[in-house]
Amino acid sequence: MASNLPTSMQAQFLESYKTPYKLRTVPLPSPSTPHDILIRVDAASYCHTDFVLAEGQMPGLPKSFPHIGCHEFAGTVISHFKSPSEKASELKVGARVGVPGRAFHACGNCFECKKNRPKDLIAEDDEGYSVHCVDAENNGLSRHGGFAEYAIVDARQVAPIPDSLTAAETAPLMCAGVTIYAALKRCGLQVGDRVGILGAGGGLGHLGLQYGVHMGYKVLGIEAADFPLALAKDVAQRLNPQPHIVDARAEQASVLVQNLGGQDGKTHVGEMGLDAVVILPESQIAFDYGMSMLKTHGTCVVVSFPEKGFQFSARDVVFRDIKILGSLVGSNKTLREMLDFSARHNVRAISKSYPLARLNELVEEYNKGSGGKLVVDMTRKE
Ligand SMILES: [Zn+2]
Ligand SMILES: [Zn+2]
Repeated sequence: MASNLPTSMQAQFLESYKTPYKLRTVPLPSPSTPHDILIRVDAASYCHTDFVLAEGQMPGLPKSFPHIGCHEFAGTVISHFKSPSEKASELKVGARVGVPGRAFHACGNCFECKKNRPKDLIAEDDEGYSVHCVDAENNGLSRHGGFAEYAIVDARQVAPIPDSLTAAETAPLMCAGVTIYAALKRCGLQVGDRVGILGAGGGLGHLGLQYGVHMGYKVLGIEAADFPLALAKDVAQRLNPQPHIVDARAEQASVLVQNLGGQDGKTHVGEMGLDAVVILPESQIAFDYGMSMLKTHGTCVVVSFPEKGFQFSARDVVFRDIKILGSLVGSNKTLREMLDFSARHNVRAISKSYPLARLNELVEEYNKGSGGKLVVDMTRKE
């Protein structure tokens, strides 16, 4: 390890469920396997899952207290293990990397690691390493994450940061960005197809509006709350072509479908509406709204996972041939592709930043539900 490193660091710890984070000084962690790299955390973004974890709604997680949260962050490589793996050696000291939550120390032996899923719309991981590994850990969930000055990350799961993206711009893309990017790809759309994003003004949704437009789709953003609706409209205005933003409280899905059908010159209701929808909110109303906007043979990609689940109409899947798919983050290849895509098309999260010491204020702001992303920027001291 480099000799000029500090011996301690500050980190925000969760000491038990439903309690505020506590800032403490602890010894600097060090790489303990060939794949490990020590990074200086430059920015760390807050995800809904951090909230769910802190509320005690993820059984068995974290594995122990006190725990450092955050599974979407970005930093700079500081040091390697004494005999680094090939992947770790590729990341030189000083390289900037984005870090997602999945999957720290994939086992390399399980059915997921050995035999990746059949060809999918999502790029696969290399053999011997899968984000779906049944034995892997997760930065910020089962083990320590990014709400700290330094962190140990797995060299196989990170992605190099393109020059045009800052760390604070990269962090919110490492969970929110890759999740919505992969969900849009799972829709299986062609250029010119119509896609609806339910929850378009949230952390994932407002990124989805941008990705969807740059992927060449006709995008409809649906919201049902004032702050996120305003944010979605703001993002839409800067895009070309502009996504149509809908206030679901004021416009009925059936009327929208008829309007879209009119624009497309369609005569039967089965061919009117959207080719795919992505469900980001946890509400059944949002799910139903999305389902009723789909054409016959449409695809519903579910990203949210409410505690009590969603109810779907068997008629929709039987008579209308609607496909319902789930989507969970994406492979490391998808992560790298998403970062390059974001740099090339200037996709950015609308975000507000806080210093590490004020993480609890960030959480308070999150609970107000104002939309966009909230990020700890380590360069901010206050
Ligand atoms: Zn997340
Ligand atoms: Zn495995």
